[in-house]
Amino acid sequence: GAALQQADAVVASVCAFCGVGCQLDYRVKDNKILEAVGRDGPANHGRLCVKGRYGYDYVQSAERLTVPLMRREGVAKDPADIALVRQGLKPLSDLFREASWDEALDFAATGLRQLRDSHALGADSPLAGFGSAKGSNEEAYLFQKLVRQGFGTNNVDHCTRLCHASSVAALLEGIGSGSVSNPVADVAQAEVILLIGANPSSNHPVAASFIKNAVKAGSTLIVADPRRAPMARFARWHLAFRPDSDVALLNGMLHTIIDEGLTDPAFIAARVNGFEALKAAVAECTPERMSEICGIAPELIREVARCYATAKSAMILWGMGISQHVHGTDNARCLIALAMITGQIGRPGTGLHPLRGQNNVQGASDAGLIPMMLPNYQRVARAEVREQFEALWAVPLSSTPGLTVVEIMHAASEGRIKGMFVEGENPAMSDPDLDHARRALAGLQHLVVQDIFATETALLADVILPASAHAEKWGSYTNTDRLIQLGRPAITPPGDARQDLWIIEQLGRRLGLPWAYWTEADGQGHAAAEAPTARVYEEMRQVMAPLAGVPWSRLQRENAVTTPAAREDEPGERVVFHDHFPLADGRSQLVPATFTPGPEQPDAQYPLVLTTGRVLEHWHTGAMTRRATALEALAPAPQINIHPEDAAGLHLHDGQTVDLRSRHGQVQAQVQLSREVQPGQVFLPFCYWEAAANLLTGDALDAVGKIPGFKVTAVRVEALLIS
Ligand code: SF4
Repeated sequence: GAALQQADAVVASVCAFCGVGCQLDYRVKDNKILEAVGRDGPANHGRLCVKGRYGYDYVQSAERLTVPLMRREGVAKDPADIALVRQGLKPLSDLFREASWDEALDFAATGLRQLRDSHALGADSPLAGFGSAKGSNEEAYLFQKLVRQGFGTNNVDHCTRLCHASSVAALLEGIGSGSVSNPVADVAQAEVILLIGANPSSNHPVAASFIKNAVKAGSTLIVADPRRAPMARFARWHLAFRPDSDVALLNGMLHTIIDEGLTDPAFIAARVNGFEALKAAVAECTPERMSEICGIAPELIREVARCYATAKSAMILWGMGISQHVHGTDNARCLIALAMITGQIGRPGTGLHPLRGQNNVQGASDAGLIPMMLPNYQRVARAEVREQFEALWAVPLSSTPGLTVVEIMHAASEGRIKGMFVEGENPAMSDPDLDHARRALAGLQHLVVQDIFATETALLADVILPASAHAEKWGSYTNTDRLIQLGRPAITPPGDARQDLWIIEQLGRRLGLPWAYWTEADGQGHAAAEAPTARVYEEMRQVMAPLAGVPWSRLQRENAVTTPAAREDEPGERVVFHDHFPLADGRSQLVPATFTPGPEQPDAQYPLVLTTGRVLEHWHTGAMTRRATALEALAPAPQINIHPEDAAGLHLHDGQTVDLRSRHGQVQAQVQLSREVQPGQVFLPFCYWEAAANLLTGDALDAVGKIPGFKVTAVRVEALLIS
């Protein structure tokens, strides 16, 4: 109330955090956000979760970077500095000195240019870039253009590789599109909702509220997840299957549906390829056999399969619990098969919805921030695709797909990648096998980091370029529902921090690119400027068919438009795939999967299974939310969830500090007794530098999606000896 009276401006924008894409109003006074209030957007209907409502004040944190920083001469890049700086034992100024923008940009660009000019381009380039799913579509587009046009390589990727790469690989292969078939809100029309490997109460809280509403109104919710996360309380069945046995559980369901004649033969005949091969592949996958692997009773597998298959409308929503496995693509293939053989797609309340994590992970992928695809999922390997972009960008483009996130880290540790530009991502927290990843980053000849905070990654940089926060810039963002929404600036960046688009363009120009998105009239990037953002957006629209009907002016007018939108005078398509799939013959392609055990098998030395994930109050690596006062007060320290039975067996008590060790590393954190995990499992969020969960995870990858298996790591817990 008080904030409402004091505010001298109200800015309509969109939440900076998760993929739900809640619209909000920032109430602003004297270049300060007083509060964020939910607005009636299509994805949130006025609702906000604790992050959206109380998490905005990271933008006003005293830790914001306000001036370019360059590594002090003679100060080596050392991963050990991460802990020292975080613990306050080493000031940032020991590692870096302040620099002017000209000096920092010249230094950043010179290092990149020298590496480019003294080596081969394309597949053998020593350069790579990580863009950001937290940035806008325009930033993502310009970043991938910088890497492709300016660095001369397709070595560009972002955190989608670590979240839904496997889902997208399976979806592109199976139904020709990596995006969702229906918005989350469609759960209101779903008779049955299958939620698998997802914890939306923490990670997509407003989406979770729509699912709860649907259950209250009569929908049947099936939760399948090794963890008993809060949504299980609303479920008719919670299938707590053994970690990493998704394929067995889902093949058991597929077997049942085929065996009991519950398929949709007309849909299969009209729209599905590969049914006979799938049928043969799951013929032996009886619920009895699959039960031995996944631990779910055969009759329950049957009951759930029947419930899903016979529903008038059924929707599958999934998250990282499906995708973050070394066979994540197989997991997603099984979900696609479930929908295809039952015809549960293409109508309201049916379909497939991989819940996107970050606010713009859908948009950043759409905009081409992926190594094998130019904007709008057009493959770099296809000559006609390259010709279109070569004409637009006036440079020859590499036909070889670039390296992915983890592959880039490997190449860096082997000296094949020598220079990197990281914008708004934090691989020194988010990558698997962090010791290895941090050493690889530290070993680079030239690391340029653009961010709003001195993140763990920035601490290993040669030069840090202080950028703008979400609430300080113009930009469009695409949520998990394919809804493109406009973010507006509420305040200006602190000190001499500049607009991200301006910084990327400045680097581009110094690499010799004839870019002129940002004109003299738009200033020097101190404050948000709408015109350059709109110029980049309109260029992007030329090569992205789903945006054909959404010029910048429409975004300005409507704030949110569902894509694809072919025409400006029509709403976009909320439900897609109603009569065909965007594959060559218009039909989906089933790809059977066989259960195979992953590499992280528990043994006598490492008897427990660690799952990493997120908590309600913190977002991803915590760079933003751990600097948000209210959120940090609510969840200030890492806690290892352990089942009381396991704790009793190990003589551990609640609150005790323990050592958690895997084959890859170790951390220390407090025990929190919890029945959300099953006996034999432990859970640790990955947002805390004090106990960085990814020090424990391994970097084995899914062969297709190239995603690491974050969800399963063999570990042991040891009590610390008290001296
Ligand atoms: Fe923001 Fe997601 Fe929370 Fe909505 S649900 S307020 S988008 S974090």
